[in-house]
Amino acid sequence: DTRRQAHRRREKPPVLCYQRRCRSLNRMDGNDLSEACRQVLTFARELAGRNGSEVVALLIGENKAAASAALGGYGVSRILRVENDAIDDYVPAAWARVMSQVISERKPQVVLTAGTDRGNEVMAHLAAMIDRPLSANTLSVDAEDPTRVTRMRWGSSLLEEAVLVGSPRLLTLALHVVPAEEAPEPSEPVEETVAPTIPEADLRVRLTRREAEVTEGTTLKNAPVVVGGGRGVGSSEGYAVLEKLAELVGGVVGCSRVATNNGWRPHSDQVGLTGTRISPDLYIACGISGVIQHLVGCKGAKRILVINKDPEAAFFAKADYGVLGDLHEVVSAIIEEVQK
Ligand code: FAD
Repeated sequence: DTRRQAHRRREKPPVLCYQRRCRSLNRMDGNDLSEACRQVLTFARELAGRNGSEVVALLIGENKAAASAALGGYGVSRILRVENDAIDDYVPAAWARVMSQVISERKPQVVLTAGTDRGNEVMAHLAAMIDRPLSANTLSVDAEDPTRVTRMRWGSSLLEEAVLVGSPRLLTLALHVVPAEEAPEPSEPVEETVAPTIPEADLRVRLTRREAEVTEGTTLKNAPVVVGGGRGVGSSEGYAVLEKLAELVGGVVGCSRVATNNGWRPHSDQVGLTGTRISPDLYIACGISGVIQHLVGCKGAKRILVINKDPEAAFFAKADYGVLGDLHEVVSAIIEEVQK
């Protein structure tokens, strides 16, 4: 207790960072704040209110022009706008570098972002840079002991209680856990600019082009049948047979992360924890082993047909129907039958 009290006396304001992505959850219209951002601001205000600290918003990239009044409406008392055109687009390591520099100058007690793909990625870089643990997808922080957190793991199939050591505490907030709520009294934030120094090495991984997400017609999210392919498909050309089956049954092709990592399929085809969650009438999983990160993406399927040459493949335990065999032979045989 004594150590905790001493620690509290040293506590400084939290820093908040948020980003936007293309999906609707993160979309900002005009100067409005994204839904994910408003959830994070609400949580930050609640945390800060526990010990009378202030909420500071660090604005990087596309967000640097966000309206001061909108942030003040959520209780932000200070805004740090990052001035560096080279990192306006998404540059994860560079964004983390900016945060590390702000942290070393201002010594915040908590650094918080939304648990979006980007939020988690940038914070992972930051955690590695400053050698601190990260609580990703956090659900709550203990009211008595702010080092104790509960967070979601394994696609929310496990809740973990953890203790965060060191300072600052790095958190990303799980999405849709804290409802966004404006502050009872809006504040008028003080504005500052930040001019970070970004080493060349931090600019190595950067956004080079954008591909528009297909949102019309039959997509992974609304297809009645999804034909998924994993490492067992063997190559990008190997998907031709899956495409053919999908076309015949009015479905679309999905894939495992191995297929996207290998460049066989675009990321928009990926099913799973870091891909799309699907709920078709039938999911035909070909040459996919069925680990948890894939299963969380297809657990909404009404029926699952697994085609795998390994009788021990974990996916069989989740299957309504299973075919043991080489997927190229089995899928070709199914196509033949459907065509008949
Ligand atoms: P493997 O595990 O290598 O399995 C290949 C399967 O194909 C085996 O079962 C094999 O028996 C079978 N096979 C091989 N040849 C044939 C053949 N000719 N005919 C029939 N069967 C054959 N993965 C995802 O899919 N989606 C995600 O969103 C995702 N997110 C992740 C997030 C994190 C944080 C991490 C750490 C991992 C994530 N992964 C995700 C990766 C995941 O852990 C697995 O590595 C991946 O799903 C395995 O893909 P796979 O089943 O295609 O490959």
